[in-house]
Amino acid sequence: MSDSIFALASAPGRGGVQVIRLSGPDAGATLGHLTGRPLPPPRQATLASLREPGSGEVIDKGLVLWFPGPASFTGEDVAELHLHGGRAVLSAVTDALTTLGLRVAEPGEFSRRAFENGKLDLTEAEAIADLVDAETAAQRRQALRQLDGDLGRLYDGWRTRLTRALAHLEADIDFPEEDLPGGLSDAVRPVVEGLAAEIGAHLADNSRGERLRDGISIAILGAPNAGKSSLLNAIARRDVAIVSNTAGTTRDVIEVHLDLGGYPVLLADTAGLREAAEAIEAEGIRRALDRASRADLKLLVFDGSRWPLLDPATLALLDEDALPVLNKADLAAHPAEPVVGGRPALPVSAATGQGLPALLSALGSEVERRYAPSGAPALTRARHRSALEDCRDSLLRALSAPLPELAAEDIRLATRALGRITGRVDVEELLDVIFRDFCIGK
Ligand code: GDP
Ligand code: ZN
Repeated sequence: MSDSIFALASAPGRGGVQVIRLSGPDAGATLGHLTGRPLPPPRQATLASLREPGSGEVIDKGLVLWFPGPASFTGEDVAELHLHGGRAVLSAVTDALTTLGLRVAEPGEFSRRAFENGKLDLTEAEAIADLVDAETAAQRRQALRQLDGDLGRLYDGWRTRLTRALAHLEADIDFPEEDLPGGLSDAVRPVVEGLAAEIGAHLADNSRGERLRDGISIAILGAPNAGKSSLLNAIARRDVAIVSNTAGTTRDVIEVHLDLGGYPVLLADTAGLREAAEAIEAEGIRRALDRASRADLKLLVFDGSRWPLLDPATLALLDEDALPVLNKADLAAHPAEPVVGGRPALPVSAATGQGLPALLSALGSEVERRYAPSGAPALTRARHRSALEDCRDSLLRALSAPLPELAAEDIRLATRALGRITGRVDVEELLDVIFRDFCIGK
């Protein structure tokens, strides 16, 4: 039997309305105590005055809702208080609820109770956190889809197929009809092969879902004074990077978060690529190159006023993940449709803003082309990826196992790995870590 908890479910601070959520066996009695009235009909907003338990003084007047378990978010008895948003009201309600024996909830404790009471699987609980954190439309859509259970159903479906294959294999072991050449019979082998291939394809998805969740990284690279910092500022339309006339002043990596047509993008300015005299600058360049190697996309900035001279260190980074840009188009010495390293380059001017809409739209279509959602739900977390890798490795071992008993053990491991993702098995030790990252009141 769990204790009863409460927390502010809306954002803290002043506001039109704040929502305080109660969950646990005492939620109903507490609501009755605060209002001094019988419980309202389930799931109906009812106007009520809330009173201090000791003095009977009115704390606030607002709407109260009563959700008797198990048909509630957590599966327990739940009550919601929709009160005027503000600190004094919150602090009076907090005192009252504490006096009545309720405890302030830990971060994620409501979702954790929902999971433990079977209202959500782990992927759905994680989707709630993602939806709360979503900053762009594509992130919101992905989280919502996962909250609808698309990802959980995919993994549970695979797990069911494996469980059936395992039952078949165990029957083969108990009642052998044929001498099995390897570990798996003709009925089981195609199932395991098919699943290994499906999981392999799901893993090799360009980390689409993880990128959408964490942000797509674009590094701005180029020689000192090419105009990288100016370009970042012009794109972000705010002063985030230091712009100066002295070469080599952007010493560390400066990052801005952009919403590019609904996709979350982390755009990073880097130190200029050149032979550095100063140690601190050399460190900046090392970081720039490190950024370049880890970035999903690279914006290669050339100084267009020096045409036809192109910085060789920047040119060396031109690959299929790079977009060449000729900056300082206001001083243009280059042709109208310049070609850099065999690729069309976009003329832009950080100073006048010329070419920026075209640059943003080119970046936007590139991001869309790479990360637009496909038909199948996307893999969204490193936790899921590592469990799926374990699963696929076990399946591959099962396929080459010399004995059916060994293959069965591998398939059992593969099934467990899938079960860990949705929280069917082996999760006790994971839950603290998973729910710790949630906000309070979720
Ligand atoms: P970074 O070292 O690549 O980050 O270059 P900065 O952004 O610091 O710019 C270097 C110099 O070029 C500064 O004096 C900027 O004002 C100038 N600059 C940057 N972009 C443009 C541009 O589009 N046109 C002109 N005329 N000057 C620019
Ligand atoms: Zn700079």
